[in-house]
Amino acid sequence: TITTRFAPSPTGYLHIGGARTALYSWLHAKASGGRFVLRIEDTDRERSTDEAVQAILDAMEWLDLEHDGEIYYQTKRFDRYAEVIDWLLAEGKAYRCYSTAEEVEAMREAARAKGEKPKYDGTWRPMPGKTLPEPPEGVDPVIRFATPLDGETVIHDLVKGDITISNTELDDLVIARADGTPTYNFCVVVDDMDMAISHIIRGDDHVNNTPRQINILKALIGDFAELPVYAHVPMILGPDGKRLSKRHGAVGVMRYREEGFLPEALLNYLVRLGWAHGDQEIFTREQMLEHFDIEHVQGGASTFDPDKLLWVNQEHLKMAAPEDLVGELRWHLARLGIEDVDDTRLAEIAAIQKGRCKTVLEMAEQTLFVFQPVTEYEPKAVKKHVKAATPDLLAQVRDGLAKLDEWTGEAASAVVKQVSADNEVGMGKVAQPIRIAVTGGPVSPSIDDTLVLLGRDETLARLDAAVA
Ligand code: GLU
Repeated sequence: TITTRFAPSPTGYLHIGGARTALYSWLHAKASGGRFVLRIEDTDRERSTDEAVQAILDAMEWLDLEHDGEIYYQTKRFDRYAEVIDWLLAEGKAYRCYSTAEEVEAMREAARAKGEKPKYDGTWRPMPGKTLPEPPEGVDPVIRFATPLDGETVIHDLVKGDITISNTELDDLVIARADGTPTYNFCVVVDDMDMAISHIIRGDDHVNNTPRQINILKALIGDFAELPVYAHVPMILGPDGKRLSKRHGAVGVMRYREEGFLPEALLNYLVRLGWAHGDQEIFTREQMLEHFDIEHVQGGASTFDPDKLLWVNQEHLKMAAPEDLVGELRWHLARLGIEDVDDTRLAEIAAIQKGRCKTVLEMAEQTLFVFQPVTEYEPKAVKKHVKAATPDLLAQVRDGLAKLDEWTGEAASAVVKQVSADNEVGMGKVAQPIRIAVTGGPVSPSIDDTLVLLGRDETLARLDAAVA
């Protein structure tokens, strides 16, 4: 089975680039009924925080990129890493190195002086026929991986094609520090092996790590065992051509939730960032699963386009079933202080608002008037729209509305039309005072939508209060 993983370092929010990597990994696994593993790479204890772990889990849940099995935490796997290090030492594939930091720096300097890649010179590396120095007293060694001294390492990358690196360019990597803690590149390899990862999909900022990881992996599983397939996904640039960062506004996925984006829309936008299926722009989750293929992810960087994201969001709002918007609408209304609205009511609201708003936040904001009593009428609007005859027009509308059998937009606007015809005044002369009467101000959805959103009882009560 295809097994992919998403392996974030919990040093901050799940950002847009990470979310796309997670999506690609999830799609690649799920399209073939495979497994998607979530692994928290929290070995950097200085920079990892519990809040960041939680933020990542929350974002993954919101995006509904469900993982299979338990969530792995690298900090809970130290025994396992120690076991593998012991095995490598016993096999002679890793060795203890007692060189001091200054000595290592001097070796690097010497290599640079010769025009070579700076690297460790192998002083403590066991070699046939070589006598190693006596280990110094009281020095805790680091453990280095004995990188192959010749040959080359080839990465078969689904996005970038084959990448070949000469092993002579690679250092004898430190896999455990003097205090015994394993290093990042080593943990990743042990994890990918133990979790039987078949496809490693990640950001191309990790390309340089890959040959080192492949060599360690080969040392563990044997030269002829099957390696995972790699796909290094290019980075995302901001509209100014620089790497996407906080400067460009919202970077944490949950900020997009706060701004009113739908998870489906964000995923849709992200899947298209660097991948295409003909000229199709709008994808449901099912369509993504059907069509996505990692081989057709483009090798070059892509540019984040907030306007397009907004457009995609609007398209998803339009096509969503109102019931499917209830959850997000509830969340946004709660943030605006409106709670305990039942699902049916929320679905009604969504049905009316989804076609006229770009975000769920906008839907919620433009629905607030429904839940907030009118405490005052905007004086400017009153001055402009309320005339001597207005109370009578409102009373007529109120009577008409009270007699309606069903409370629909058509029925309500028919009443408004009738009253304006009867009194030989324009529709606006009736509609605008109604709007002020029931919302307190001159701006709201169309008058029929406004009244339907409010409901019969509330509309009549507010009209009564205004006329009184
Ligand atoms: N933990 C790494 C990161 O957050 C990802 C490592 C990997 O996917 O191999 O960038």
